[in-house]
Amino acid sequence: MSHHEISRRRTFAIIAHPDAGKTTLTEKLLLYGGVIQLAGAVKAKRGRANAVSDWMEMERERGISITTSVLQFPYRGLQMNLLDTPGHADFSEDTYRTLHAVDGAVMLLDCAKGVESQTRKLFRVCRQRSIPIFTFVNKMDRPGRDAFELIGEVESVLGIGVYPITWPVFRSGVFRGVYHRMARRVYLFDADHANSSSTTGAERPPVEVTGIDDPMLREALDDAGYDRLRSEADLLDAAGDGFDRERFEAGELSPMFFGSAVNNFGLEAFLETFSELMPPPRPRDTDQGPVEPTRDEFSGFVFKIQANMDKAHRDRVAFVRICSGRMVRGMKAHHVRTGKDVRLANPTQFLARDRNVVDESWAGDVVGIHDPGNLEIGDTLTGGSRFVYEGIPSFAPEHFRRLALVDPMRRKQFATGLEQLAQEGTVQLYRPPAGRAGDLVLGALGQLQFEVVRYRLESEYSVQVRVEPVPYQLARWVSRADGKPLDLDALHDAVEGMVVLDVRDRPVVLFDREWALRTAERLHPEYRFAETATGV
Ligand code: GDP
Repeated sequence: MSHHEISRRRTFAIIAHPDAGKTTLTEKLLLYGGVIQLAGAVKAKRGRANAVSDWMEMERERGISITTSVLQFPYRGLQMNLLDTPGHADFSEDTYRTLHAVDGAVMLLDCAKGVESQTRKLFRVCRQRSIPIFTFVNKMDRPGRDAFELIGEVESVLGIGVYPITWPVFRSGVFRGVYHRMARRVYLFDADHANSSSTTGAERPPVEVTGIDDPMLREALDDAGYDRLRSEADLLDAAGDGFDRERFEAGELSPMFFGSAVNNFGLEAFLETFSELMPPPRPRDTDQGPVEPTRDEFSGFVFKIQANMDKAHRDRVAFVRICSGRMVRGMKAHHVRTGKDVRLANPTQFLARDRNVVDESWAGDVVGIHDPGNLEIGDTLTGGSRFVYEGIPSFAPEHFRRLALVDPMRRKQFATGLEQLAQEGTVQLYRPPAGRAGDLVLGALGQLQFEVVRYRLESEYSVQVRVEPVPYQLARWVSRADGKPLDLDALHDAVEGMVVLDVRDRPVVLFDREWALRTAERLHPEYRFAETATGV
C-alpha cells in the first residue's frame, strides 16, 4: 500500500524567467489534471509593479501568497505535486530552497527569448542537485527563434544535453502542431482556436492526432510545411542517439517540448510524456547514508518557513517535504536538532489559496505544519531515528542594504527582530566581527525581501526603519583552502572588501566590485570564496 502511494507521487517545480508563462502553464496543468474549477485560481501575476502591496494585501486577507502554493492534481493515476517557485520581485532564497524539495523541474522558455538570467540561476540549483529537468518552449504561436537554435543555446549556455521529444509543425509559417518523435504521432491543433478568447478559459481545444505517415498531413500542413517536418524529423533522427533515460534522470539530458500554454497547444503531448518520464521520489542523502522513500518510518525536512500568515494567531507554518514513509495527522515526530518530540496536530496541504487539513501524506508530498517557533529551515523530522537530511545551502545574495533605526530607543527590539528574521531565512544578516565598527548589512536575492523585512519589523516588532543603500554588490563565504581556522584580521588585511559574520557566525566578505573579488581570488589562493554555504 505505502509503496503504491509513494510510487504515484511526482513532485516538481516550474523554473522560468518572469513572463515566460509560468502562471499560465500552471493553470493549464490544473486544467488538464481535471481540477478545472481551479484554472484561474492561481494568482494572476499581471502588472507586477505592485508586488509589495500584493504581499501585504495577502497578509491582510490572511490568505496564502503564491509563494506558498503547493498544487496537487491527479493525472492518469499519478499524484502530481507542483511546488510553486516564487519569481519576479519576490524572487528570494525561498525560490532556491523550494528546488531542494522537488524531484524534478520543468524549465519553461519563451521561444523568442531563449535562456534568460533567472532561468540560468534556477537551472544552476537544479543542476547542483542532479535532478531531471524537462524543457518546455512556450509561446510558439508567436514568432520566435528557430528550434535548432534554441537547442544549441540551451546546450551551450546551460551545459546540458537536449533531446527534443516533440517538434513544432508549421503551416505557412504558422504554428500548427507538434510531432511527437517517440510516439511518431502528430498533434494538430485547431487553428481557429489560436488566440481566440475561448481558449484562455477552462476549455481543452480539439486536437487531431495522427501518425506521421498519414497522407492527410500533407494537406493539413501544405507542401512546404509537410516537407519541412519530414526533413527536420530526418535530421533529428540522424543527429542523435536514442533518448538516454539514465542521463535524463541524472540531470544531464533534458527532454524538450514545444507548445503554447495560453492556447493549450502541445500540453497533452507534454503531459503524457512527462508523466511517463518524471521519476517518483528517490532516496535522499542523510548523515547516515541514503534513506529510501519506501522506508516505513516517516521522515522529512523543513525547507521553508512562512511566519505570521495569520497575524491574529502569530501563525507560523513550516513546510516539510516528506522523504520517507507516511505522515499521519496527530502523530508524534522526532525533531532531531532539539531531540524533542513534536506533535503534528494539523498537517495542512495547500491547494492554491485553500488550506486543507490532511489525515495522511506520503513521501513526495509537502505539508505545512503549524509551529510555535521550534522548527528551522533545514531541520529533520523523523519517526524516532536520529539521522539528518543534508543541509539546504544558502546562496550568496545579490542585493544589499543598510537599515537605519528611526527611534534609537527601539534598538533592542530592532536587534531581536532582525536576528529572528535572519534566523528564519527571510534575509541574510551581516554584522562586523567583535571589536570592529560597522553597520549591520542585509543581503537578499530579491529586492522585495527588504520591503518584507521593513514591513515585518514595523508590524511585528513595532520598529520603524529606513532602508538605505550600501555600495556592496557581491558576498562570498570565506574559508581557508587548507581547512585551518580562519584569522579574521589576516583576512581583513588581505582583501579589498568588508569582512563580516553571518547569523551562523560564518565569515563573509562583502565586495563592492566584481574585480575586487577576482583580485582577492587571484592574489590569495589560500582562501576559498564560496557562492553557497551549506546549512541555513
Ligand atoms: P509568468 O510571469 O511566467 O508567470 O507568466 P504569465 O503566465 O503571467 O504569462 C506572461 C504573459 O505571457 C501573459 O500575458 C500571458 O498571457 C502570455 N502568455 C503565456 N503563454 C503564452 C503563449 O503560449 N503564447 C502567447 N502569445 N502568450 C502567452
